[in-house]
Amino acid sequence: MYQPKSLHEIRVYHSKIIMSTLRQNGPMTKNDLALKTGLSLSSVTNILKILTDRELVTLGDKIDSFAGRPATYIVPVLDAVYSVGIEVSQYSVRFVLMNLGEPILAKEKHDALFENSDAYWDAIHEWLEAFIDANNVDRGKLGGVVLATRLAVSSGERIGNIPVLLDRSAEMIDTEALCRKFEEYNFDVALNTKIAGAIYGLWESKDLPDYVYLSVDSTIGGCVVRNYESVNIYDLSDNFGHMIVHPGGKRCSCGRTGCLETQCTASGLYMRLNLSSLDEFFTELENGNEDCAARWETYLDDLCVALNNLYMSYDMDIVIGGTMAQYLDRYREEIDRRVFADYALFPVKRKLIFAHNGEYAAAIGAAAVVIEKFIAKKIS
Ligand SMILES: [Zn+2]
Repeated sequence: MYQPKSLHEIRVYHSKIIMSTLRQNGPMTKNDLALKTGLSLSSVTNILKILTDRELVTLGDKIDSFAGRPATYIVPVLDAVYSVGIEVSQYSVRFVLMNLGEPILAKEKHDALFENSDAYWDAIHEWLEAFIDANNVDRGKLGGVVLATRLAVSSGERIGNIPVLLDRSAEMIDTEALCRKFEEYNFDVALNTKIAGAIYGLWESKDLPDYVYLSVDSTIGGCVVRNYESVNIYDLSDNFGHMIVHPGGKRCSCGRTGCLETQCTASGLYMRLNLSSLDEFFTELENGNEDCAARWETYLDDLCVALNNLYMSYDMDIVIGGTMAQYLDRYREEIDRRVFADYALFPVKRKLIFAHNGEYAAAIGAAAVVIEKFIAKKIS
């Protein structure tokens, strides 16, 4: 577990726990907060004083309590800040709107082929403005707009305070031009999609201090999260994608054969059968198409080798995100069986968690950066 060192660190840590509990569960009484967080009633009282001063919580209705004195609901100020996350990918642009509450407030997708031109970035900017207006966001409370893309990468570059990692399979674009666009539009930072996806995983899995995050999308990558406080999310790499799961399989961009990255991408699943989408693939599969069934069998075999390797290496729960998460979720029993069944060495059985909103994971992760920074700044 995370061990805060100074009194100040303890206060910040406890504030985060209480804010997180309120954001996930909605208004609660002080007693319920203490019970839910495991903090003492006096700690909760002290922290609530700070959070009230910083306008992150207010006092709500009084309710009758068993103890005699009426109890008061502690209400998180959900609209203290708004945040927009944008994911720019090869074929589409996704927007999400968040405030301090969960789940997200709005989402929107535009189909648009990526092109590194002024016209393309201007279109994104127009969609953003329309998205903000359509959702009646108070612009004074808009904490930031964060853009996630696996296209905007070059080795060792930084945009704002965020290091941008090299994604070997990504198309290189002129990051200087992108920076200028960011300034023009007041976008905050650029993030690698996989990092944003992992931040999303982190955000959705707050109850989990430790887990392995695996993004299964048009590329595959992931990271290891060790206690949500100390994780260095920017160390995320795409190395998971290059573990060999199918010796002698398809050749990968890394030069070897049978990498997870070549065997289990979302697009590879349907494109090899000349189908047009994942939806079409799964409809055909459910209708008994034998080619799809054979392809799915190999896909699950390969993916489960990877999941099993991750499980054996880290002995942690595994959070699966990315576009494939929603489809894999339908087969969770089968996947669970293949990964965990008949394995008796570990006394504790780990679980597989399928992140909801998988398709929007990166955009949500990007938006969550603003929310987390806002809370951190308020309580530090
Ligand atoms: Zn590879």
